Amino acid sequence: MRLVLVGPPGAGKGTQAAVIAAKIGVPAISTGDIFRANVGQETPLGLEAKQYMDAGQLVPDAVTNAMVADRLTHADVSIGFLLDGYPRNLDQADVLTQQLEAAHTPLDAVIEIVADTEHVLARLLSRGQGRADDTEEVIRHRLDVYASETAPLVGYYRERGVLRTVVGIGSVDEVTARILAVLPA
Ligand code: ADP
Repeated sequence: MRLVLVGPPGAGKGTQAAVIAAKIGVPAISTGDIFRANVGQETPLGLEAKQYMDAGQLVPDAVTNAMVADRLTHADVSIGFLLDGYPRNLDQADVLTQQLEAAHTPLDAVIEIVADTEHVLARLLSRGQGRADDTEEVIRHRLDVYASETAPLVGYYRERGVLRTVVGIGSVDEVTARILAVLPA
């Protein structure tokens, strides 16, 4: 099973990605986590990504696409994968579509987790200062970037017939159950 999870910051995407990936037995690939690991280890990739992340901006596509393309060549994704946080704009989506088409491994579903702005803003603010990009100013910018850059993916994947939408409000278990209910058999 090859899945993508899309949703605004604070919608619980990361939590659901880990739970769903474990349930269906595929690796969860979070671009945010990979970037944060590189920032923590001060790798060249991390040093480049950090300035964008701290500002709530997207890391440039060339950097992100190359990182994901490489990750998708690892042996563990031969059974499938769950992408969390990628693609995040239409250009990334096109790059991913082309890579998967070339490998004859198209996506099975794209799960959109819907949550309104006030809800996710409150959730992120209450999460506290765990992350450098969780200040109110940067959170608001991440939400703006989501609305302008990432939200168009919903139409892109709907046209391709793979979009499934679930409401992200409720307990972790409730949202997980909704996602499992819309996964293709
Ligand atoms: P959130 O969804 O809460 O904003 P993520 O962990 O998904 O958190 O992403 C954190 C940051 O990592 C983003 O604000 C961005 O700077 C960077 N990032 C993650 N995924 C991508 C991507 N696909 N393209 C560009 N930048 C990304």
